[in-house]
Amino acid sequence: MSKRLCTRCHRYYPATRPDCPDCGPPWWRRPIRLPGQRNTAPAPPTDRLGRPGVLIAAAALMLLAIYRINTVGVERMRQAAQERAEADQRAAQAAARDAAACRRSAKCWGEKHWANATVACTQSVDRAARYATRWPSGLLNPAFLNWDWRDQQAETLTYIGRVELQNGFGAWAPYIVGCLYDPATGAAIHIELTPGRL
Ligand SMILES: [Zn+2]
Repeated sequence: MSKRLCTRCHRYYPATRPDCPDCGPPWWRRPIRLPGQRNTAPAPPTDRLGRPGVLIAAAALMLLAIYRINTVGVERMRQAAQERAEADQRAAQAAARDAAACRRSAKCWGEKHWANATVACTQSVDRAARYATRWPSGLLNPAFLNWDWRDQQAETLTYIGRVELQNGFGAWAPYIVGCLYDPATGAAIHIELTPGRL
């Protein structure tokens, strides 16, 4: 290791150091202080931990804050999920109650399945007819106007509608349609066609 001689105390010090550890920098490299002027040399660090210590402490605080935010966030999310699940369960229970109430009412149960019943019953009549069929059309002119229980226990319904059937001579005649519909299968189980008007 190379050494340097201090010009003041005449002792050697390692060349890796800029100045003698005992005497400090030589006079020509010391900051000049005029009378009445404050020392402009940088103040030594006042924290006891030193720079790495401060950084480590800051990092630890930040990690603690992140951990705290995370645990609070996770807890809030868990609570929100639980509240949503409870709300869903309440809604499902209400829907089940409504459905059960609807099954007891021919009006509600028939209304609920009216659109599907109309499709199934219309198709059944079309298939059963020997010649062409003509249905009332338009939203204000529905093919099936009434319904009632066929078998309340089985929750099946009879829908009553009207149709015109063409005969072999091309003449049209009005018919009353009775359609036994099963909401469970979505099928028109039985069709009755009676000549006449509703
Ligand atoms: Zn020295």
